[in-house]
Amino acid sequence: MSDCLFCKIIAGEIPSLKVYEDEHVYAFMDIMPLTKGHTLLIPKTHCKDLFEMPEDVARNLYAAAPKVANAIKSAFNPVGMNTINNNGAEAGQTVFHYHLHLVPRYDETDGLKVQWNGRQAEFPPE
Ligand code: 5GP
Repeated sequence: MSDCLFCKIIAGEIPSLKVYEDEHVYAFMDIMPLTKGHTLLIPKTHCKDLFEMPEDVARNLYAAAPKVANAIKSAFNPVGMNTINNNGAEAGQTVFHYHLHLVPRYDETDGLKVQWNGRQAEFPPE
């Protein structure tokens, strides 16, 4: 899609810090990281969200997810990781090209709070 930010990143028209790439997916550092190493994994095939994601696109994306997670783990040595995916503006999606957030976690006091649809979730849960 010509006006899609993440399609432009895949095409190299907008610079990004690449973490992983194969025939089907592209992974790069989030420009506003929630924690050190926060990465976005996206399909090269444009689809808006999970609802519009063809099965083969989902299969290829999730086949790559452990490789990307382990690359982040090797580079940053987190003790855990959240995977987050927002679908629809009301769910917090701001870029309308499917993306899986991989958010490394460092310890239980890293202070990260994640907002879901106006509700504040705290990690670890109380
Ligand atoms: P969403 O809110 O749609 O789930 O997540 C979109 C993510 O894309 C945000 O975490 C935001 O920081 C990231 N983002 C937005 N624009 C850019 C950009 O130009 N480059 C990179 N690397 N990340 C971006």
